[in-house]
Amino acid sequence: MYDIKSLKAEEFISDEEIRATLAYADEHKSDMALIDEILNKARQCKGLTHREASVLLACEDEGKIREMYDLAEDIKKQFYGNRIVMFAPLYLSNYCVNGCVYCPYHLKNKCIPRKKLTQEEIKREVIALQDMGHKRLAIEAGEDPVNNPIEYILESINTIYSIKHKNGAIRRVNVNIAATTVENYKKLADAGIGTYILFQETYHKESYEKLHPTGPKHDYCYHTEAMDRAMEGGIDDVGLGVLFGLELYRYECAGLLMHAEHLEAVHGVGPHTISVPRIKKAQDIDPSAFDNSISDEIFAKICALIRISVPYTGMIISTRESKEVREKVLRLGVSQISGASRTSVGGYAEAEPEDESSAQFDVSDNRTLDEVVNWLMRLGYIPSFCTACYREGRTGDRFMDLCKSKQIQNCCHPNALMTLKEYLMDYASLDTRVIGTDLILREILNIPNEKVRKLVIQHLKDIRNGQRDFRF
Ligand code: SAM
Repeated sequence: MYDIKSLKAEEFISDEEIRATLAYADEHKSDMALIDEILNKARQCKGLTHREASVLLACEDEGKIREMYDLAEDIKKQFYGNRIVMFAPLYLSNYCVNGCVYCPYHLKNKCIPRKKLTQEEIKREVIALQDMGHKRLAIEAGEDPVNNPIEYILESINTIYSIKHKNGAIRRVNVNIAATTVENYKKLADAGIGTYILFQETYHKESYEKLHPTGPKHDYCYHTEAMDRAMEGGIDDVGLGVLFGLELYRYECAGLLMHAEHLEAVHGVGPHTISVPRIKKAQDIDPSAFDNSISDEIFAKICALIRISVPYTGMIISTRESKEVREKVLRLGVSQISGASRTSVGGYAEAEPEDESSAQFDVSDNRTLDEVVNWLMRLGYIPSFCTACYREGRTGDRFMDLCKSKQIQNCCHPNALMTLKEYLMDYASLDTRVIGTDLILREILNIPNEKVRKLVIQHLKDIRNGQRDFRF
């Protein structure tokens, strides 16, 4: 039975509804009148239902796909301008009691070195990240109640926020840890986290159970209902994601959008972000063993579809993807990217010998943060180190209301310019600083409100004179 408002996973992610949706999409994939109608609806920037989105995803007409890409680009510009938010993952521990067959942290893997950072080691990692210029982290840990209990995660968050090295500071810590209890989500909310991120991996229950044969993560319903518990615990911003390659992508996209619709229907606010990871090679993991891998073309189509289906939800792409793929999907709606990521435990402060790697997966984009920032600006984007929204209480429905009315640009654009200026002053190479200074000068003119523009100009001068952390 399909019930969007039910709190039971199998009812709000109804397999029956997904199958009916995919059949409907197959039936209508060449119905140009319907496809035009759906594209016209998407043009109003109010989003699409999972059924409408599934029809577009099934459509193979090249002209219509191009229209969809153009629309994704246009919607992205309307809601996010040319800003791209920067972040880095920080791996705290790879101890894990689960048996996820695609992840090298799985319990049976006796070859991967197990590591857990001490608070002193976390300090070293954070200083290394601050020295690159990062202000926003996503902390990552395997699931292990003995080695990585919630107290360890909370202490680590506290440590991260407390470190002020030179002009550096981590101003937002997002958290990607296993599904947990309402009580623990309350503790995370009290610790001042940004977004709680949890990838569904796959929405297909039967496959999910096979892919997670052992450990607490085996419980599909507990995992799928985690975002409801997180919101009940007071976390306003949650991030969804699917690990593409595990199941059929059309099934996953329908499930993902149904999950977003469910959160909006029950909590009045949809997901803050959606991530689109694809399976990568890792120690003991061969991606070719998973036969649902998707091509770069399909990947781009999925990104464009998400952008037009949930226009006000941020989209995240990690260094799992190459520079070339990232470049393509930035245009189609991605709003956040990681830079200079290490997926090993302790990999920022100290490089690991290759044969002793604790990494979760191989990264495809190995550039430094300065190279990524430089590249983004050359492509016409503003790399943003802004973390102001959640620090100013603009989370959950308050953020969504502003975003839906496109007002968010009035704070995000100036904040992006000011945090970029901080980056240029404190961390950038000479070439990046030259390009960035020029870009900021041009972008100031795009601030329509004269009062705000004058204030930004003053703050930019203050930043040049050593002051930090201005925000709207
Ligand atoms: N332990 C937490 C959990 O259970 O959700 C945190 C997850 S892990 C540190 C972050 C994510 O990496 C996983 O949710 C999974 O989607 C992804 N991942 C695992 N193995 C991967 C691989 N071989 N390639 C790409 N991504 C992978």
